[in-house]
Amino acid sequence: MCKGTLMSSLHTSDMDQKVVKDTLRVDDLHVNYGAVKALKGVSFRVGEGELVALLGSNGAGKTTTLKTVMGVLNPIEGSIQYRGERVNGRKTDVLVKKGITLVPEGRRLFQKSSVLENLEIGAIVRTDGAGIRKTMEQVFTLFPVLQERRKQLAESLSGGEQQMLAIGRALMSQPKMLLLDEPSMGLAPKIVDQIFDLIVDLNRTGTTILMVEQNASLSLEIVDRAYVLEGGRTMLSGTATELINNNDVAEAYLGASLEQH
Ligand code: ATP
Repeated sequence: MCKGTLMSSLHTSDMDQKVVKDTLRVDDLHVNYGAVKALKGVSFRVGEGELVALLGSNGAGKTTTLKTVMGVLNPIEGSIQYRGERVNGRKTDVLVKKGITLVPEGRRLFQKSSVLENLEIGAIVRTDGAGIRKTMEQVFTLFPVLQERRKQLAESLSGGEQQMLAIGRALMSQPKMLLLDEPSMGLAPKIVDQIFDLIVDLNRTGTTILMVEQNASLSLEIVDRAYVLEGGRTMLSGTATELINNNDVAEAYLGASLEQH
C-alpha cells in the first residue's frame, strides 16, 4: 500500500468531518499483550449518530481496539475519550453505565441459559425494573423470534438468532453507542444481510455505531466512514465512497471480501 496517499486521505477526511460532535475519540493507542505489540498507534473518531467501521485483515488489531475501548485491556499509551471525557482505565461496567456497550466477537452468549436470562444479564447495570421490562418489549418487537424462543436455551438458536440475541442483550443496557465485533462472522449471506439491515435501522433510530468487520465490501455499503487498520496502526480513513474508489483498498480488501460474500 502507498502510505503517503493513505495518510493524506486520513487527514482530509477527518478535517471534513470536524463539524460533528465526537461520541468516541481514540488517539494514538498502544496496547501490548506481554511482549507482543498489538496496537502501535490506532487513532479514529466516531461522531454522534455516525455508523463507522474499522476494517483490516486478520491480526490487524481490530478486536484489541474494541476491547481496549471497553476497558478489558489497558493501553500503555494513547487516549480514549467518550463524549468528551477521558475514559482510559475505566472498568467495563462503568462504561456500560455511561452508555457504551460491546457485542463481542463470537457472540459470547451464556449458552446454557435461556434467551430471557441472556437478555436480563444485558440489563445488569440497570435498576429501573419498569424501564427494563419496557426495553425487553422493544427488543422483542425488533426480534419477534427471540420472544417466541424466550424460554429456549441460547445454544439451541441458529447462528443468526444467536447474533440477534447478542445484539438484543447489548440493547438491554440502553446504549448510546454500540461496538459490534464481526457481526457477520459465521453467518450465511442472507442472514448477514438481515443483520446489516438491522444495524442500519439501529443507527437511523439514534444509536451511534462502531463496527469491526473483515467483510469490507459489505461494510462499505452501509457505513458513513471507515478506517483501515494494518499491523496495529490506522493506515487510512475516508467516507465509504472514498474507500470504495481507492485502488489500494480495492486491491487489498474488497476483492477478497466480494468473493466471500
Ligand atoms: P481477527 O479478525 O483475526 O480477530 P484483529 O484485527 O481483530 O484480527 P486482534 O485480535 O486485535 O486482530 O490481534 C492483534 C494482534 O495481537 C495480532 O498480532 C494477534 O496475534 C495479537 N493478539 C491478539 N490476542 C492476543 C493474546 N491474547 N495474546 C497475545 N497476542 C494476541
